[in-house]
Amino acid sequence: MSPFRQIAPWPRALRRPARIASRLPSVSQTTKALAFCALVAVGAWTAYHYAERAETSAIIERAAHRLDIDESTLKGELTRYDYLPALLSLNPDIAELLRHPADAALIARVNRYLEDVTTDSQAAAIYVLDLNGTTLAASNWDRPISFVGQNFSYRPYFIDALHSGTGRFYGLGSTSHLPGYFYAARIEADGRALGIVTTKISLDPLEALWKRGDETVLVADANGVVFLTSVPGWKYRTLHPLSAAARARIDTKRQYEGPGALEEIGLVHRRRLAPNAEIDAVSPPNSLVASPAGKRRTDYVVVSRTVSGTDWQIMSLTDIAPARKSARYAALVAALGLSLATIGTLYVLQRRKVIAQRLSMRETLERMNDELERKVARRTGALARANKSLRSEIIEHKRTEATLKATLEELVQAGKMALIGQMSAGITHELNQPLAALRTLSDNALLFLQRGRREEAEDNLRVIAGLIERMGKITAQLRRFSHKAGTELAPVAVERAIANALFLVELRLRKEDVEVVRNVPDATAHAESLVPCAPCAHLVLADANRLEQVLVNLFANALDAMLGCAVRRLSIAVHADTTDDAFVDIVVTDTGPGIPDAVRARLFEPFFTTKPPGAGLGLGLAISAGIVRELGGTLKADDTAATNGASFTLRLRRAPAQDRADEAIAPTTLERNRATTNHADEEHDD
Ligand code: ADP
Repeated sequence: MSPFRQIAPWPRALRRPARIASRLPSVSQTTKALAFCALVAVGAWTAYHYAERAETSAIIERAAHRLDIDESTLKGELTRYDYLPALLSLNPDIAELLRHPADAALIARVNRYLEDVTTDSQAAAIYVLDLNGTTLAASNWDRPISFVGQNFSYRPYFIDALHSGTGRFYGLGSTSHLPGYFYAARIEADGRALGIVTTKISLDPLEALWKRGDETVLVADANGVVFLTSVPGWKYRTLHPLSAAARARIDTKRQYEGPGALEEIGLVHRRRLAPNAEIDAVSPPNSLVASPAGKRRTDYVVVSRTVSGTDWQIMSLTDIAPARKSARYAALVAALGLSLATIGTLYVLQRRKVIAQRLSMRETLERMNDELERKVARRTGALARANKSLRSEIIEHKRTEATLKATLEELVQAGKMALIGQMSAGITHELNQPLAALRTLSDNALLFLQRGRREEAEDNLRVIAGLIERMGKITAQLRRFSHKAGTELAPVAVERAIANALFLVELRLRKEDVEVVRNVPDATAHAESLVPCAPCAHLVLADANRLEQVLVNLFANALDAMLGCAVRRLSIAVHADTTDDAFVDIVVTDTGPGIPDAVRARLFEPFFTTKPPGAGLGLGLAISAGIVRELGGTLKADDTAATNGASFTLRLRRAPAQDRADEAIAPTTLERNRATTNHADEEHDD
């Protein structure tokens, strides 16, 4: 079964799009290519967009989770020492020291106590300030950077604690210049403030922990100054420009110092990634920021929140590059998938189109084939009918030809008989003469014998024998002439045929005193002997008897025409056709009255004659023309308007060269006969 017999129907879901697609106007290849590129580009962009969004959401989620941990770690660090002020206030030595700040023994005792507590709690330092902010005792009393005697009344934690009971502050130590978190608490006795106890906590371990991690975390204060970060270069730098007042306040508190301190990091806010009502002063909680300008740009997803209980902000920054890389992969996959799908769809559409075209072509071909077969059948029928009728026509034609041939044979025979009838008078005369001579010669021979003149009697008997032989030959000739001729063609010497024909009409020639002029070039030398030499003879392809019959007929007509004419000359010319060597012409001319046009038009019609009844049948020329046709030649009456008389040209095919030698040039019986007759005539005349 043909693979193109049917197109498979579209699946139900694709029928509607396929119908719409088939109705779309056919567009150029360029438009198709552009549409394809646009489709792939839009698909890739959409895939990129959604993949980036999904990746960003995942980043935000992960970062938020991490921030939870980081924030609680930070808060844990910050609240770890909240118990210390309460613990210290329980120590009577500290209250006593605040009441008697100059007591050296007391100072020493408190110093050692603070040192022990610091060691136990792993705080950076613990120190006791009087209400003026001067340090009375400190855990680092025996170190070079001892706080003892230092005045911290300008520090915010002291001021806050003095006024509100507690104070918290992050900044560089004004003596040690080491960063730390300061937690200050007021010590009271009997409802009266005695002094301030401050604990300094180092957040370096936490920072070191963040640095070791693969995340970027930072903590910024209310002014946007980053004081804790996993990125060393960002320490004490700002998220956004500081106002002059803020800068002055920080300087007053001597909060942050060092190279690059309070310079901007240069993070550029690009866009918000997710809506969030809690808009922070530094940047929207979830946003995309760019890394410091000037360097290779890195885009970060920023997730931030305020550390509870403080005015600090903790932020997580995640490089978005891997997410974008994944999004690019997604876009690539989408583009490839879309390309493949589009190419596949186009291929399917194209294939269906090709199949549809082939089907329609096949149907057209089948229709054409059917039509062709019908035409062929019609033509074959017509041909068969034509063939049948042709065959019957051929059969009819052959039958007609056979009938015609038989008729012609009959006519030829009839013509011969007519000629014989015509010649019979002459022949009778011819025979009568020797018969009379025979009578005389035999009578005389008897007389000579009676008189004993034996020799003379013998002579007479010899003459008698000769005459008898001559008479026998005349009758034999007539018998031969009356025979039906065969159809075999053979080389025949024209000169010999002319001589034989002349012999048959010779009696009339002599009787009617007709001059015979023979213009037979190469045979002239042998005219008298009537035996042309082989090289000189004009040999034609003919049947000798039939050729002689035609010539006799032409000569007889000429003699008939010249009856009663003053000049009676029969001219016979033979010449080879100069233009076409394949033919030999025999021209028979007489000096009769010629042929009127009315007669000329009907010359070769059977039974047409102008001769009186009994003198001619009107078959001579018709039969002669038929014979000549059979010999492959032509017979025509020449136009002799310029001359008197009639002229007929008999054209015959020249015998092939190899056949010419075959023609026996030896005298035939007729020629010998003719010679003998002449001889007998001479004797008789004698
Ligand atoms: P027939 O001799 O019996 O009449 P032919 O067919 O031989 O029949 O000739 C037909 C006619 O052609 C003759 O009756 C004669 O009128 C004309 N014809 C033939 N030969 C000559 C000729 N040499 N000169 C004049 N007329 C001729």
